[in-house]
Amino acid sequence: MSSSWQVFSSDAALAHVASRPQGLTSAEAEARLQQYGPNELLETGSRPWWVILVDQFSNVMLLMLLAVAVISSFFDIRNALIEGSPPIPKDGIAIFLVVGLNALLGYLQEVRAEAALAALKSMASSRVRVLRDGGPVELDSRLLVPGDILLIEAGIRIPADGLLLEAVNLEVRESMLTGEFHPVKKQAGITLPEETPLGDRLNCIFSGTEVIQGRGVAVVMTTGMNTELGKIASALQEIEPDPTPLQKRMSQLGTTLVQGSLTLVALVITVGMIAQPTLENFEHLVKVSLSMAVAVVPEGLPAVITITLALGTQRMVKRNALIRRLPAVETLGSVTVICSDKTGTLTQNKMMVQRVITANHRLVITGEGYAPVGEFQERGQAIDPWESTELPWLLQGCLLCNDAHLHQENGTWTIIGDPTEGALLTLAGKGGVTRNDHTLPRIAEFPFSSERKRMSVICAEDSTHHHGQLFIKGSPELILERCTRIQMGSEVVGISGEQVNQILADNNELAGQGFRVLGFAYRGIDGIPTEAEVAEQDLIWLGLVAMSDAPRPEAVQAVRRCHMAGIRVVMITGDHQLTAQSVAQELGIATGLSPVLTGRDLEKLSQEELVEQVARVNVFARVSPEHKLRIVQALQSRGEVVAMTGDGVNDAPALKQADIGVAMGITGTDVSKEASDMILLDDNFATIVSAVEEGRVVYVNIRRFIRYILGSNLGEVLTVAVSPLLGVGGVPLTPLQILWMNLVTDGVPALALAVEPGRPTVMQAPPKNPNESIFARGLGNYIFRQGIVLAIVTVTLMVWASGYTNTVTSEILDPRRWKTMVFTTLCLAQMGHAIAIRSNTRLAIEMNQFENPFMLGSVLLTTLLQLLLIYLPPLRNFFGTFYISGVELAVCLGFSILILVWVDLEKLFIRRFLGRRAGREPAIPRTELFG
Ligand code: ADP
Ligand code: MG
Repeated sequence: MSSSWQVFSSDAALAHVASRPQGLTSAEAEARLQQYGPNELLETGSRPWWVILVDQFSNVMLLMLLAVAVISSFFDIRNALIEGSPPIPKDGIAIFLVVGLNALLGYLQEVRAEAALAALKSMASSRVRVLRDGGPVELDSRLLVPGDILLIEAGIRIPADGLLLEAVNLEVRESMLTGEFHPVKKQAGITLPEETPLGDRLNCIFSGTEVIQGRGVAVVMTTGMNTELGKIASALQEIEPDPTPLQKRMSQLGTTLVQGSLTLVALVITVGMIAQPTLENFEHLVKVSLSMAVAVVPEGLPAVITITLALGTQRMVKRNALIRRLPAVETLGSVTVICSDKTGTLTQNKMMVQRVITANHRLVITGEGYAPVGEFQERGQAIDPWESTELPWLLQGCLLCNDAHLHQENGTWTIIGDPTEGALLTLAGKGGVTRNDHTLPRIAEFPFSSERKRMSVICAEDSTHHHGQLFIKGSPELILERCTRIQMGSEVVGISGEQVNQILADNNELAGQGFRVLGFAYRGIDGIPTEAEVAEQDLIWLGLVAMSDAPRPEAVQAVRRCHMAGIRVVMITGDHQLTAQSVAQELGIATGLSPVLTGRDLEKLSQEELVEQVARVNVFARVSPEHKLRIVQALQSRGEVVAMTGDGVNDAPALKQADIGVAMGITGTDVSKEASDMILLDDNFATIVSAVEEGRVVYVNIRRFIRYILGSNLGEVLTVAVSPLLGVGGVPLTPLQILWMNLVTDGVPALALAVEPGRPTVMQAPPKNPNESIFARGLGNYIFRQGIVLAIVTVTLMVWASGYTNTVTSEILDPRRWKTMVFTTLCLAQMGHAIAIRSNTRLAIEMNQFENPFMLGSVLLTTLLQLLLIYLPPLRNFFGTFYISGVELAVCLGFSILILVWVDLEKLFIRRFLGRRAGREPAIPRTELFG
């Protein structure tokens, strides 16, 4: 479908969508809603359900299990047919069930996560005014359909694409589509050629753009995903996000294990067949290898990891960090640099003007909060600002060049809008300048942006709007550059070089004290220029206004915690370099000698030079959003894992580029939130650090249960593998029993390990190397040791129990008896292992087991389940176990306790030879010698 609506005349456009100037009827609208669907952008979660479900099977581990199920079903059916019993492939069915359940769980997880994302996005829907049944009505923007007549007014976000029928002084900011921040002046009643680029289609309006001023009427041409915004949105959604470190490692692990187990299978069959090349032996070997294949693969692991990450997001949201993508939880744990905005994140964003400097006055302003009561003091004496002419002009500027509102409620003064502007309204109020009937009407404006670092308004002085006053405020250097004159008392004179130098010196002095400083100027103007550059020149300097914005006390602490945790904190701000440096010093981010890089410096650097610079610069001042993108990229090419905050529309690219894009929940724009991985519900820097801490706890716990689960897997494999060599007669464990262990008796305690509370020391070690393997720092070693010890214990038991005969009749007992003992020992051994592995240094008897009640519960529960498997006849039947006596059970218990003892002996060894003391959890790198 063509979307070049600019070629249409009003009548043609109306005809194209079968509409009329009075709008649609409710019935027509209803029918069209059915036809075109609701006016909304489809969520990322628009993958159909079956695609999500099929995706669950794109996992090598599951595929191998399915293969095992097929092969073992084949043997079961064949044997049943030979024996004449009903051909029910019990193991095969059980494995299929388990695989299906696994996939279902994964599917439910993903669907839920996507629904949560969709809910977040739908909060953005708004109300619009349209003509229906001949009159204006207000409705949910999702009910908008092609053909609707849309009423446009200043301040709204355009809800659909359309052609203008009427436009009065209508200006729309289309930066989200065109990147052009400057508003476009719209026109109705014209037609434009087919090839007109998007940004020049003056007679069209586009979904997602903002109406800066004026009003208009448009006919809606397309809605939802058919709009220009929808086309971008779908392009954005098509980009496959990079897998996170953990996902990469897990798929790497899965492949390794499957390869390993296939190699083992091949080895066992080859060696076994060379030794004894019979068909019967072949079947036996295949059975052994099937059990081994199942034993190698940690079936429970993916589910435990997903649940751990999900629980991590819950803990984080309790600490005000809303995670938007599940894998971000893990990435947070490896963050090495946090780049934070200054204003509002590191500081309180409670602005208060404290100094004013004009040509003839240097004032201190008193007062508290946003209440417009306070004095203008000069050399300690209160003065009346109206005694000079400079000050009333300046206060006028504060009031007029301002979009905030000040209001009083129950005695406290609060602001709506930007705190910087709120503080200026308070200042004006202290001088008696407030909005009233005589306030000059605004006829034009060039709004503030982080790139421009200034804003100006034009206010009408007469009713014809031909003559007006322009007021401008912003970064003092930028304003001063554009001044040719200065207000001195009631006179306006040319500004001298000396005066300029004095003003710059004053500006530096105030900034050096940590003040956020704004410059003010004005001029009379005829007509309304369309270009900011044309309007903002030949200005009359009014003065400097300096406001304080104290650091958040919790941010000071949080910065200290970051440094202890080996995480760099980088401040990025649009403010003056000296302001930035002073605040950074207060926060402990920089010292007086630390280098500060400004946006201007940065522009002169090549990307390679910047990569050099970011290694040592912790404060970036006077930057624009596009600089933020370069900073992230530079840090990343040094191998850093970067968290970066942002709130504006133009911060979105930097947020997307960062490993963790952090948006502001209170002051952030919708666009920045959508680009982010995490939203700070309280806009607070300290919240990022809390989230990082939770991320690290999650990572430590994931490693803990990985070594727990894999150690057990290796023990199982070795036990099965050596059984044919020892001639005990038969495979000790069936695939079904192994699945039971991997999913239940290992899986449930692993879940309890996942909620193991974090140790305070988790933030006292440097971040892990983002490229390290999950087996780094001794984890692989531990798994091998543990697997071998477990195998030695169970194999010893197996050899003993399989030769164990009835003392009365001297006959060899049913082989299922010793197999059940092996099965039980393996399970119980893992219970002891789980209890011991909770800490790397404290012995099981030194730990308070009630610290993690889930562990206690899960050990009791799985032990009980294991007993039911032996002593409850139907379960005994299904799992192929055998009744064992109390004495035999006690023997199993005795053997299995050896594992707990072994793990604790290792701890004692480490303490003794590496000088660790009891109860002290050492820093991560050394401890992780053990995992
Ligand atoms: P940050 O958010 O890092 O403090 P901003 O981009 O908000 O930086 O501000 C950068 C500079 O722009 C400020 O130092 C100030 O000089 C100027 N400025 C900030 N807010 C406004 C505003 N509302 N109007 C005009 N200028 C402003
Ligand atoms: Mg700001």
